[in-house]
Amino acid sequence: ESKPLDIDPSKLVIEKTTTPKSLKKPEDLVFGANFTDHMITVEWNATTGWGEPHIKPYQNLSLDPATCVFHYAFECFEGMKAYKDKAGQIRLFRPDKNMARINKSAARIALPTFEPKAMLDIIAQFAKLESRFIPEQRGYSLYLRPTMIGTQKTLGVGPPGSALLYVIASPVGPYYPTGFKAVSLEATDYAVRAWPGGVGDKKLGANYAPCIVPQREAMSRGFQQNLWLFGEEEYVTEVGTMNFFVALKNKETGQNELITAPLDGTILEGVTRDSVLALAREKLAPEGWKIEERKFTMKELAEASAEGRLIEAFGSGTAAIVSPVRAISWKGQLVNCGLKDHEESGELTLRVKQWMEDRQYGEEEHEWSYVC
Ligand code: PMP
Repeated sequence: ESKPLDIDPSKLVIEKTTTPKSLKKPEDLVFGANFTDHMITVEWNATTGWGEPHIKPYQNLSLDPATCVFHYAFECFEGMKAYKDKAGQIRLFRPDKNMARINKSAARIALPTFEPKAMLDIIAQFAKLESRFIPEQRGYSLYLRPTMIGTQKTLGVGPPGSALLYVIASPVGPYYPTGFKAVSLEATDYAVRAWPGGVGDKKLGANYAPCIVPQREAMSRGFQQNLWLFGEEEYVTEVGTMNFFVALKNKETGQNELITAPLDGTILEGVTRDSVLALAREKLAPEGWKIEERKFTMKELAEASAEGRLIEAFGSGTAAIVSPVRAISWKGQLVNCGLKDHEESGELTLRVKQWMEDRQYGEEEHEWSYVC
C-alpha cells in the first residue's frame, strides 16, 4: 500500500498553446476580464493523492451537473500577483502566504492540502511562461487566481473524494488608473460578513456571494463599499473585500496610532494587512507611531472624527494595495475620515503604497519578493 502522493513539480507536463492570444493595450485592461494563454491544473483523489501537474492551454472545464462544487460550495481560492521588475524578471509577492492560506481554506471545507513549496515552484514557472502578458509599467501586474474545487459527482453531503486545483491568470492595470479615488463607505450592521467560529476568516467562494446584495444596497445610497461591523459593540472589522486601517491621535496621550482589527475570526488574514503592519512597525514606530492590532468600535471612530483626531483611513488588499476612505455613513451621520474635500488620499496612505510597491516591483530588494 502506497502513501497518497503530494504535488510534484518534477512531473510537470507543459503543453503550450498553438493559438496565442493577441495582447490588449495595457490601458484597456479591465480587472479580471482578460486571461492569459495557459492555466495550471492538478487533479486529486482520495486514494492516490495528487496527480501530475499540468500547464496547458486555457480552456473550459467539463463537469457533471451533479458535481459537489455546484451544490455545496466546495470551493476556495487565492488572489496574488506577479510583477515585472526593471530587469524584466518576474516577481511574486509573499506567495508563501497565499499557499499557506489556501491550504487553511481547503482544510476547513474537507478539500485536500498540498506541499506549498511544490505548488509555488509550478506557479513561478507558469508566471514566467506568461511573461509577455505582464506590462512593464509600474502599477501593472499579473493577477493570479489559484482555485480549488470539489469534483466528486454526488448529491450526497460529505467530504469530496476528488478535487481539482487550478490556476488562471489575468493581466491587470492600476486599480485607480487616474490616481487614487477616495471611497465612501456605509457602516453595515443589518448584514454580518463574518463571526467568531464562522468561516469568514477563510477565502471560501461561499463567503463572497452573500456580500453582493448589501454592497448593491450601499451603492444605491451613494456609498461604494460596506464597512462590516460586528456585534452590539459595533466593532469595525473590514471594508468590502479589504482589511481596514485607521490612523488617529490618541485622546489621552496625543500619540499617533495606526490601528487595524485583530485576527479573531471576523476578518480575513490579509497578506497586504500583514505587510502594512510590518512596514508600519519598521518605518512608522521609529517616528513615534503606535502600531496596534486591536478591536475598535464605530463609536470610537466617530468620536475621533468629531474631535479632529481622525487622521486617515484606508482599506488594504492585493487588488488595490491601499484604498483611501473619505467618509463613513453611520447612524444617519457622515463620519469624515480626515481628507479635505479636494484630497483623494492622505499622506500616510500614499507612503504605505510606495513602500509596498518598492518591495513588490523589486526596487527594494527584500525577502518578500520571490524571483521566479
Ligand atoms: N478581506 C477580504 C474579505 C478579502 O477577500 C481580501 C482579499 N483577499 C482581503 C481582506 C485582503 O487580503 P489580501 O491582502 O491578502 O489581498
